[in-house]
Amino acid sequence: MLKAEGDAAGRIPGEAKTAAPAGAKSGDEVVFLLDVDNTLLDNDRFAAELGARLERSFGADQRGRYWRLFEELRAKSGVADYLSTLQAFRAGLDDDPKLLEMSEFLLEFPFPELLFPRALDTIAQLRGMGRPVVLSDGDVVFQPRKIKHAGIWDAVQGAVLIYLHKEKVLDHVQQRYPARHYVAVDDKPHLLAAMKLVMPHNLTTVFVRQGHYAFAAGSNAVTPAPDRVIERIGDLINFNPSDFKVRP
Ligand SMILES: [Mg+2]
Repeated sequence: MLKAEGDAAGRIPGEAKTAAPAGAKSGDEVVFLLDVDNTLLDNDRFAAELGARLERSFGADQRGRYWRLFEELRAKSGVADYLSTLQAFRAGLDDDPKLLEMSEFLLEFPFPELLFPRALDTIAQLRGMGRPVVLSDGDVVFQPRKIKHAGIWDAVQGAVLIYLHKEKVLDHVQQRYPARHYVAVDDKPHLLAAMKLVMPHNLTTVFVRQGHYAFAAGSNAVTPAPDRVIERIGDLINFNPSDFKVRP
């Protein structure tokens, strides 16, 4: 394992002249903004297991209906909302005892099994170079529970931010966690590009090619392109502070 080369404050060499965000009083030298779904844990696998469970309990048609409701809600709210979808899904199924079993399936899912290899080790390693913060989009019940039960919440020492459109609230993020430089790690290249446009001078973007978004058509053609591309979240363990520096 390569040792972090930053100083005690996690300062990245060559980054000292970068201006701190407006309004920042004291903060970290580097804050890592870590996405959750398909970045730290395998949410594609969760969706597949949920679909399989729905089909076993209610049949293929109802499984399809659940995902149609899911997409309708996501088009309205902008986030994946498994619980609200279940509330809508109950229509016509109130008499089916299997409906109530879906509550336990969702809330007691073995989330730690979804973690990608060395995901928590990676967070621990990043702590030696800066402050790891979870920056996720999601609902305010299921998403925090997933993050907590997977062990991510404790790994980032409670530094968890969950929004509806995180790329639109980066000013709030910078106020909450002031830093000289930020590193965003995400499986959605379009999201990283949107964040880079908002923070062109103090953000390094890292695209992790995991999950279906990473391999979707056009994912390699975003502008601005990600500063770094990795195949697995665990690859970050081998990064040094200088690897996160954006070179001109
Ligand atoms: Mg994601």
